[in-house]
Amino acid sequence: MDTVARIRKIGFRKWYERQLIESHFYLITCFLGIIMAASAVELSGRRESLGDLLFAAALGLGGCVLSLFGWQRYKRIMVVAEHIGDHATCVQCNAYAKFTVVDAGRALHAEPVDIEDAEEVWLKVECRKCGNKWTI
Ligand SMILES: [Zn+2]
Repeated sequence: MDTVARIRKIGFRKWYERQLIESHFYLITCFLGIIMAASAVELSGRRESLGDLLFAAALGLGGCVLSLFGWQRYKRIMVVAEHIGDHATCVQCNAYAKFTVVDAGRALHAEPVDIEDAEEVWLKVECRKCGNKWTI
C-alpha cells in the first residue's frame, strides 16, 4: 500500500503516529549498526588469526551498511511526516488533521516516500469541517 492510500485509509493522525513509531525503529537499527561497527574496531585490535580479522571486517562493514540504511530511512520518514504535520491545520477554521486527501504527487504514491523527488512531494487536501482546499 502506498503512502497516500495509507493516509486515506487510517486518517492523517494515526498515520502520523505510526510514522513516528516506524522511524524510531529505524533509528534503533542505526544505533545497532554503530554498535556493530564499534565492536569490529575492538575485535580487529586483537588480531589473533586471519579468521578473526575477516570476521571483524565483515562485522564492521555490516554495521556501517546497517547504520547508514537506518539513518536514511529515519530521516526520510521524519522529513515527510514533519512536513505534512506542519501543514495539517486548516488556515480557514483552524481544524487540525481534519482533511481528506484529494490528490497527491508522484513521490507520495511510493512507500517509503521518495524525498529525492522533492517536486512530487505534495498533497492536495480538503478540510472536512469548512471545505477549504489547500496544498501541503
Ligand atoms: Zn477548515
